Amino acid sequence: MEASTKGDSLHKRVLMGLLVGAVLGLVGNWLGTQSESARQIVRFLADGVAHPIGQVFLRLLFLVVVPLVFASLATGVASLGDFGKVGRIGARTAVFFLLTTAFSAVLGLTLMNTLQPGAGFDPAVRDELLASFGGDAAKLQATATANATKTTLETANKWLDMFLPRNVLGAITRMEMLPLVVLSLLFGAFLMRVRAERRSQMIGWLETVAETMVSIVGFAMKLAPFAVACLIYSVVAKFGADLLGKLAAYVLIILGAYVVQVFVLYPLILVLMVKRSPIAFLRGAVPVMVTALSTSSSNATLPTSLRVAKEGLGIRSSIAGFVLPLGATLNMNGTALFEGALVLFIAQVFGIELSLGQQAVLVLMCVITAVGAAGVPGGSLPLLVAVLAQVGLPPDGIAIVLGVDRILDMGRTVVNVMGDLVCAAWIESSESSPSSS
Ligand code: ASP
Repeated sequence: MEASTKGDSLHKRVLMGLLVGAVLGLVGNWLGTQSESARQIVRFLADGVAHPIGQVFLRLLFLVVVPLVFASLATGVASLGDFGKVGRIGARTAVFFLLTTAFSAVLGLTLMNTLQPGAGFDPAVRDELLASFGGDAAKLQATATANATKTTLETANKWLDMFLPRNVLGAITRMEMLPLVVLSLLFGAFLMRVRAERRSQMIGWLETVAETMVSIVGFAMKLAPFAVACLIYSVVAKFGADLLGKLAAYVLIILGAYVVQVFVLYPLILVLMVKRSPIAFLRGAVPVMVTALSTSSSNATLPTSLRVAKEGLGIRSSIAGFVLPLGATLNMNGTALFEGALVLFIAQVFGIELSLGQQAVLVLMCVITAVGAAGVPGGSLPLLVAVLAQVGLPPDGIAIVLGVDRILDMGRTVVNVMGDLVCAAWIESSESSPSSS
């Protein structure tokens, strides 16, 4: 009770930090338009002061991600008890992830097809945006080109590397999470075959690691209100506020879809499939939403999601420990929606029609790239450049929307982590029903 009151006041302070940072950023943004020296001071405060302070906080959160994912996923799997149960829960989780991700991509495409925000977009504004953000787009393109494959052998090797690299530690140090997930799943699964007393000893150690990591996060979260203000200030102060007007339709449609997803679609799943009150669930999940909003990172939100799932939402440790790390790495509904919507928007801006067949391929690509995207700020952007090229659109077209992406990133991260929590609640309820034991 006391812990949750403390948590409540912390997330209120984080929200306050978000607001203060945004207001200061807007003021800075306005001051920057008044004179060159004011612009330089605002930029210096953003890049030289606010950015590093915000990064200390974010990096403290990233610091714990690798041990936390390993410890909670391995203990989650090992504590489920038998291979059959792991298989059943794993299959249900995978189906839930795939269906909700595909649904989200279709939703993004349907909205953009219906509302057509990119049709009639002023070509002069388009060219101006291409010129201003072309440099950032070129950097993303360079990453996409470096990752591009040409031959079947290269493609096969790339898929192998994604899941089973030769050097798993090398992959982990590059924050590639899929090999870590595979290693943790295997470790947990085969730990079940180890002698009972050794197994429980190892589970005890891993639980201690997870708990310690969560305590580090608790310490980092003390910095959160101030650090979040700095993070948001550094984004908003440099943000082209005038840009928002030009891209208002695009931004509002996607944000609107996110609101519908979190406050209508997920509650429907909760009522129909989980048989839980969505209001209590959403209220309990507020700290998770606030953390996602302020960090724009599913990975950085994972420790909060794990804590809230167990303490606030009554989800068993083994299930939360299994579903949530997998979700933070693989399940990104908000990202899939955004990717589908962005590609269609760019197509409309360039006056290029995508056939129904091309859009069906696009849904598939959105699902695959949402699984592959890193749970960090802007994690989906390099993959999107490749998707644009794949459907025959100019890859540097992404420059048109880069300037407003941070706002959408905040929204899509909230949807991503809420999708994971809803899935964990569904697994919890289906495993509690008598037919599943
Ligand atoms: N920032 C998102 C996340 O961490 C990933 C993305 O860029 O779509 O969930």
